[in-house]
Amino acid sequence: MGLNRSVLVLNRLWQAVNIVRGRRAVSLVYVGRGMAVGKDFAVYSWEGWCGRSTDATDPLDSVLTTAGPVRIPRVIQLLEYDRMPRPRVKFTRSNVYLRDRHRCQYCGTTRAAEELTLDHVLPRSRGGPTNWSNIVVSCFRCNSRKADRMPDEAGMPLLKTPKAPQWHPSALLRTTEDPDPTWQPFLVSAAR
Ligand SMILES: [Zn+2]
Repeated sequence: MGLNRSVLVLNRLWQAVNIVRGRRAVSLVYVGRGMAVGKDFAVYSWEGWCGRSTDATDPLDSVLTTAGPVRIPRVIQLLEYDRMPRPRVKFTRSNVYLRDRHRCQYCGTTRAAEELTLDHVLPRSRGGPTNWSNIVVSCFRCNSRKADRMPDEAGMPLLKTPKAPQWHPSALLRTTEDPDPTWQPFLVSAAR
């Protein structure tokens, strides 16, 4: 259970960059790629963290090792990343709908998901890829009107250039079911 809890990941500049499961967080600290961050914002290597975990008795909050129970850190800091990672919002149908806010990117009409479809800007018949920068939300009418043409050929300019959604630390709070209160200082400072 503790190995499934969410752990906030910081880079070396103390910026929130990810959320991982406890299992992943523990292994990153164990192999020395990350440090556990304590409530006092002090950072600990695996050995140091084990030494602080002597009172870890809650099985929901700890992992059993040969050295005894060790508390799952709420926050870890990675040692290798200085910069924010590239956007990593998963490319899915529903995420494209969210990115485009259920708005047809040709005529601007906003509709329910079942009244929308996805359009290849560069048509698939011409080798257009299925990815963030070539897929937009379209209503059925615009989709059939555009057919196998580029937007400029069809006289249907896009409302905006499609691209992968920008990853933002504040989005972390919406992607996890249990944001831990100890994450707050990092999320707030990262969002500035
Ligand atoms: Zn439309």
